[in-house]
Parts: sequence; C-alpha cells; structure tokens
Amino acid sequence: MNIVVQKFGGTSVRNLECMKQVLEKVMVPYEQGNKVIVVLSAMSGETNRLIALAKEWSNAPDLAEMDSLVSTGEQVSTALFTMLLKDKGIKARSLLGFQIPIKTNSYHSRARILEMDSDEITSLLEKHDILVVAGFQGCTEDKRITTLGRGGSDTSAVAMAAAVNADVCEIYTDVSGVFTTDPNICTQARKLDMVSYDEMLEMASMGAKVLQIRSVEFAKKYNVKVHVRSTFSDEIGTFVTQEDEKMESVMVSGIAYDKDQARVTLAKVLDKPGVSATLFTPLAENGILVDMIVQNPSRDGRTDMTFTVPRADLEITLEVLDRIKDEMGAEEILYDQNVCKISVIGVGMRNHSGVASKAFQALRDENINILMISTSEIKITCLIEEKYTELAIRTLHNTFGLDKSGSEENML
Ligand code: ADP
Ligand code: ASP
Ligand code: MG
Repeated sequence: MNIVVQKFGGTSVRNLECMKQVLEKVMVPYEQGNKVIVVLSAMSGETNRLIALAKEWSNAPDLAEMDSLVSTGEQVSTALFTMLLKDKGIKARSLLGFQIPIKTNSYHSRARILEMDSDEITSLLEKHDILVVAGFQGCTEDKRITTLGRGGSDTSAVAMAAAVNADVCEIYTDVSGVFTTDPNICTQARKLDMVSYDEMLEMASMGAKVLQIRSVEFAKKYNVKVHVRSTFSDEIGTFVTQEDEKMESVMVSGIAYDKDQARVTLAKVLDKPGVSATLFTPLAENGILVDMIVQNPSRDGRTDMTFTVPRADLEITLEVLDRIKDEMGAEEILYDQNVCKISVIGVGMRNHSGVASKAFQALRDENINILMISTSEIKITCLIEEKYTELAIRTLHNTFGLDKSGSEENML
C-alpha cells in the first residue's frame, strides 16, 4: 500500500473556501491511487481564541483541562473537511488522537509522542481511502487528552508518516517552502530547494516556526522525506533530507530569529561550587527551558549569571529567583524582555572559522550591540535589542549573499 501523508496548517484551513483548495491538493495523490492521511491544524486563530478564553478564568489554568479545551480546534477542522470529502463520494473518516490512539507522555501542553498503533492505522486504511487526522493532540495511558506544543500538527504528521512508512510527508503552509530567512520579514529571502535535517533542526529551534522542532527530530530519526510547500500554488517546495556534499560547500544556509525571549541576570552571586545547580535545578523542575547562559569571571568572590528564557516563562522564572536569591547571596535580579535572538545557520560552518567574525562585523557596521553570544558546530546566535531585529536579519542576509544561490560570499 502506497501512503502519502499531507499536513495543512491553520491558514490553509482558515475558511471553507481555503478547505476547497486543500481538497484539490488531497485529490492529487488520491487520484494517483495512493492512500492518503491528511493531518489538519485548527482553523487559523482558533487555538489562540481558546487560549484567550481560558486566560479569562485564570493566568495559570489547569493544564490537563487546557489540553482538553485547545484540542477542540482540530476536531472542528477535521470534521468539516471530512464532510467535504464524503460529499465527493470518497471513502473517508475523521480521527481524533485518542481514537487511534496516538499515545504521549503526560506533560500537558508540551507532550511527546511515545507510540501510535500503526496496525490500527493500516487496518483503517484498508477500509477507507483517506483518513483525516486531528493534528496537535494525543492521549496518555490513562486516557487524558494531551497536546504537543504550539505548531504540534507538524509533529503529528511526521510521526504518522514514520509510523506507516509513508512515501512522503508533505507539509502544506502559507509560504512556498523553507526560505533563507522568514520571507514575511525579509523580502530578499530565497526559497531553498533542499535543507538538511541538522540545519532545519537548528532553524526550527532558533525560531523558524515553519516546522516544529520535534517534527524535524522525528524526520531525522526515522528518515522521513519531508516536503514543505504551499497550499496556494503548485510550486515545488523545499525537501528536508539527509545532508549531501553539495550542501556542505555552502557556508550559511539561513538566518533565524526568535522574539519570544527574555534575558535575566542574577547579579553579584557568591561564586562557589554549586551556584549553577542551585540556580538551574529549580528552573528545570518548573519546566522552564533555559537557553543561552553566560557566567562572568569572578571578582571579589562574586559573579553575574545571565541567561535567557521564553518570554512566557519570565514571571515564573522571577518567582523562582526570588525564592533562591538569598541562598545564592545575589544582590540584584535584572531582566529585559525587549530582546531578540538572531542565529546564522549552516552545515558548512563546521569546516570554516570566519563566519562568526563576519557576522559580528556586519552587526557592528549597523551599530547593533550584541548582548550575548552562543555558538554550536553549525550555528552562531547573538542576542540583540528587539528593535533591531529586521535590520539585523537584512544585514546578515546580505553579508552572506543569501539572496543569490551559490554566491561567492557564501561558498567554502
Ligand atoms: P502553519 O499554520 O501552516 O503551520 P506557520 O505559521 O506555523 O504555518 O509557519 C509558516 C510561517 O513560518 C511562515 O508564514 C513564515 O512567516 C514563518 N517562517 C519563519 N521562518 C521561516 C523560514 N525560514 N522559511 C519559511 N517560513 C518561515
Ligand atoms: N493548532 C495548533 C497551534 O496553533 C497546532 C498547529 O497549528 O500545528 O499551535
Ligand atoms: Mg505551524
């Protein structure tokens, strides 16, 4: 049985007119004789609307009930779309996460898929030609509904493709593929024909929301061929695949940004063994994802610890710090929400040393101050003031000649 998985994001199913365009896309593999699994997001804006409703009750709503609430968005879109298919006489049915089931751990609002019953899916595909699966959701062992984090339908789709060994997982969205940077921010952004799993992982984790990071982890682990493309055109999009030699010869493949950051400093803490553990253990216990960390050299037995957290976790981070600041002997807690993380990403950086200095010089030439720096083998990240985000993206994009494929500035 040849199976194609197609995922459509919120903007692709935002109204009934758009759903008709989705239908056209679904008919292509169907008419070629494939079985099709369609994974849908909620209609655009719906997940935000539901979250806002819950926030009217409380700033910290019960997470299990929250999952029960926000997962309803996908129930609506899958039911509506399946009706459209059935009107055409197609053997189709909708499926919610618990009906398969897609089993997850019990970390509500950011659950991870543990397993799904591929035999059940295969037997459903014997009876139906198209299955329409609600993205973003799963259930725990004890039958509680869970969700996979914002953008989680991408992960539902890739995990589904891995489970049934699909020929391809097509991710349909509102842009025509993965670009060198967000095309909605930088008009010079260029669509990439191919991007490696590792580069896509860095781009996703550094803020490029075109694919949820977990979906890329799944794709890499199970070698799923992912094709990111537009619902609203027939253009070939971007293939996310294993690295090949051609990719390695390009130094930088993309620039990502993440405005969802806050910088926190615990000033003048006593510099003794265990300070980092005292600080980061309670943050981890509260589920806070700390990203960049800098510890200044010690002076007179004291040091500053600076780190970044997601902006939404700032309040709880400050509460935790307030509790431990005396134990750490800290004199002050400082924070700043008007920051943005900009990352330059490329597998070619592995073998090249000039990329960081080139990026720093470009930012200096625009008078953009770098607040923090972190690097990995294939990425350089700078924290800057949020107001410079677009300028920094444009500058770095030009510096590495990303608007021109195979430009000299960007070859090893
Ligand atoms: P969907 O609702 O289809 O899941 P998303 O809004 O989650 O769509 O993701 C698509 C958006 O990702 C685009 O509209 C674009 O603004 C943004 N984006 C950020 N970085 C990139 C990039 N490098 N390439 C393409 N899109 C990007
Ligand atoms: N509806 C969910 C969200 O808005 C999941 C998704 O769209 O992928 O985050
Ligand atoms: Mg998305």
